[in-house]
Amino acid sequence: NKITIAIDGYSSTGKSTVAKQLAKHLGYIYVDSGAMYRAVTYYAMIHGFIDEHQFNKEALISNLQSIEISFKFNSDLGFAEVYLNGENVEKQIRTLEVSGFVSKVATLPEVRSQLVKQQQKMGKDKGVVMDGRDIGTVVFPDAELKLFMSASAETRAKRRYKELIDRGDDVRYEDVLRNVEERDYMDTNRAESPLLKAPDAINFDNSNMTRDKQFEAILKLVDK
Ligand code: C5P
Repeated sequence: NKITIAIDGYSSTGKSTVAKQLAKHLGYIYVDSGAMYRAVTYYAMIHGFIDEHQFNKEALISNLQSIEISFKFNSDLGFAEVYLNGENVEKQIRTLEVSGFVSKVATLPEVRSQLVKQQQKMGKDKGVVMDGRDIGTVVFPDAELKLFMSASAETRAKRRYKELIDRGDDVRYEDVLRNVEERDYMDTNRAESPLLKAPDAINFDNSNMTRDKQFEAILKLVDK
């Protein structure tokens, strides 16, 4: 019997790594809900609705119906990449610039309700692993397995920094750390669906846990 697995937690806690591993192991689909918020943010950026000086929320909200987000499985990568209005934007949405605006875009109730509806549709047949901030609380409150991931801000910033450097982005560690801390703050303190551990979610702090150990522990929970 297929189940729904909800993985929530702070930025760069390795949620997507675990989610991808689980989906592969179980033959489930993996949905990166953060990629959807990032794609909406990227749309807002390229249309001039958001930059360092302004955020034209009304313009973004009135254009939401023109934003079509989809996922296509890439067999070389082994996971689904995100598409914005038919264009593969997997690379464009991972920049530090998008990371700097995404938590602001994610405060808008109109954006959230549209994305949550789409996420619920994608998970309606179960057999899905979805990671994000509100999956166990809002998107799939009835998920059979809920995980809540955390790690120290430094551990997470180091991880993120390495990822960005590896893909060739010119970033400074201090800026990455500040972004991680700012997103934690905004994601935890927003009015609409803040980042919260669902009461029935199981905590994983992986500051001092290897990925293999952690995956082993999670697989035991799936088998239960
Ligand atoms: O998961 P990722 O770090 O890529 O998510 C980027 C941002 O999108 C988060 O910092 C958060 O502001 C927002 N987000 C959200 N709800 C989700 C997933 C992501 O608000 N379910």
